[in-house]
Amino acid sequence: MSTLKKTVKISGHGIHSGAPVNMVVRPYDKYGIYFKRTDIENSVPVCATYDNVGETKMRNTTIGDISGAHVQTVEHLMAALFMAGVDSALIEIDGAETPILDGSAAEFYKDFVRAGVTGGKIKKIVVRRPVVAYAAEIRRNMNVFSRIKWWIINTVSGRKSNGYVKLEPNDGKSLDIIATLIYPEKIIGAQTYSYSFNGTKKSISVFESNIARARTFGKYSEWEYLKKHGMARGANENNVIALNNAGDGTLNKTIWPDEFVRHKIIDAIGDMYTSGGFVVGKLTSFKGSHALNNLVLKKLFSDSANYDIIE
Ligand SMILES: [Zn+2]
Repeated sequence: MSTLKKTVKISGHGIHSGAPVNMVVRPYDKYGIYFKRTDIENSVPVCATYDNVGETKMRNTTIGDISGAHVQTVEHLMAALFMAGVDSALIEIDGAETPILDGSAAEFYKDFVRAGVTGGKIKKIVVRRPVVAYAAEIRRNMNVFSRIKWWIINTVSGRKSNGYVKLEPNDGKSLDIIATLIYPEKIIGAQTYSYSFNGTKKSISVFESNIARARTFGKYSEWEYLKKHGMARGANENNVIALNNAGDGTLNKTIWPDEFVRHKIIDAIGDMYTSGGFVVGKLTSFKGSHALNNLVLKKLFSDSANYDIIE
């Protein structure tokens, strides 16, 4: 078990709700990352594991049942906890969504590293057999309402959905992520980025310098639609890379031309951490999504021959 040496307080606002939110990340003596809503009376801490991931509202990962004491957009925070080596924490939060901060994992990560981490290494979940999750499966499992919403968003954005996320065995030492994005917008186009984490200082410093600061992104013309439907209300040019309407540029500056796909690496790291451990295997994310990351973990854990747990 490994936890923070001291409590970390982080405040900001939710990217979807736009509401202010205060979060207190406490050292914890129980294994797992637990979220507790302090604005809901008698709410019970919910562990941030793949089987507690609620309806993934299009573009984030939600812990808990959306109709109950849930917390949305946990992925960047989860990635930061994983990279900082924290496997046990109690996160008290007074709203339904983590603060978006600058839209990346950098601020969370810096705060956790600054607080210090004590204890051993995160337990390993070693992939033994390949598992694949396809976008078509997600669509099939949606209710009619979600399917219509999905269709509208994809029609508006012009995206085709033939994505998949695959987990397969590798050298047994690292999480090797290869992410590919394909967007009709020229400024993104086709981008691929790879990152390997094996617990060494070197792999951590690659995350710090090349990935942690990559921000989430959105098309400026979609904001109005999303805002009307209760999403992206807290999105602004300080926390989202805003694509212009022509799709050939951005309204704010990007850190790297491929910042878009680098951000997908953060999402993948955060989502893989809902496994409850360090997933050791090769992760191929082709036009991936939070829903696909969740489905691939469900498939992995559906058969104990698919993985080994090494404490
Ligand atoms: Zn993200």
